Amino acid sequence: MVSFKKILVYLTIFLVLVVASQFSSAESFQEKIPLKVNFLDVGQGDAILINYQDQYQILVDGGISSKKVLSELNKVMPKQDRLIEVVIATHYDKDHVGGLRGVFENYKVGVFLDNDQFKETEAVTVISDIISDKKIKKHSIKENSKIEIGSDLRLDFFNPDGEDWSANDNSVVFRMDFGINSFLFTGDAGFKTEKDMIKDGHNLDVDWLKVAHHGSKNSSDNEFLKKVSPEKAIISVGENSYGHPAEELLERIKKTGAESLTTLERGTIKVSCWKDKECFVN
Ligand SMILES: [Zn+2]
Repeated sequence: MVSFKKILVYLTIFLVLVVASQFSSAESFQEKIPLKVNFLDVGQGDAILINYQDQYQILVDGGISSKKVLSELNKVMPKQDRLIEVVIATHYDKDHVGGLRGVFENYKVGVFLDNDQFKETEAVTVISDIISDKKIKKHSIKENSKIEIGSDLRLDFFNPDGEDWSANDNSVVFRMDFGINSFLFTGDAGFKTEKDMIKDGHNLDVDWLKVAHHGSKNSSDNEFLKKVSPEKAIISVGENSYGHPAEELLERIKKTGAESLTTLERGTIKVSCWKDKECFVN
């Protein structure tokens, strides 16, 4: 099996976690497998699998149902690989954590990261029971946390700690850099979060934007979109009664020159990235 020199997760400057075991030797395999970012079609909800070198996976949210997320994961996880190194819950709404029960029951999970805004609901209580039963490591993401994987994949977390904010506005938000390519993952963050991240001077300028809140009109305002200046805007959305994606939001995206892609129209959106070439949709 191929191996990495080291895989370290830095959650804060002070807290360093080793999430995966120490691997020996390194260089030879690096350019053989692209980074794969899979925006899974889980209906109305979010679930994104980032797959590094077919060795190291980060799952961002688990959609609304175990059945849906497991069936999609089955299609994109490397065969025989039953370990997801990092699972992130951007926030505790059901369309983001409803399927995590099935994930925890069917895969080993290296570490579970949340926004420290645990919300007592039936779905969430089940998850927290499984986390303690299976003794899964759990940490809360703070603004300026970072994760570095190998020498070339990096996640920087921007979500502000708005204690009395809504669950959506407290979503975990992060940018991911891989060679010349960059992504911004926004959970269901709204205008308040966007303004705060701009005020804090975070580098929001990326090529690929995971559009917040399934294309709600209450996220992704013009100022924010101008800062992000995406080339592609991915909207994770299913049949719904909220009017997602909102026509006015699609117009705002269009004005930036970005192309919008929705999981509702395309099903799972698979993006592949080489370090020195622009990512592309498979
Ligand atoms: Zn949502």
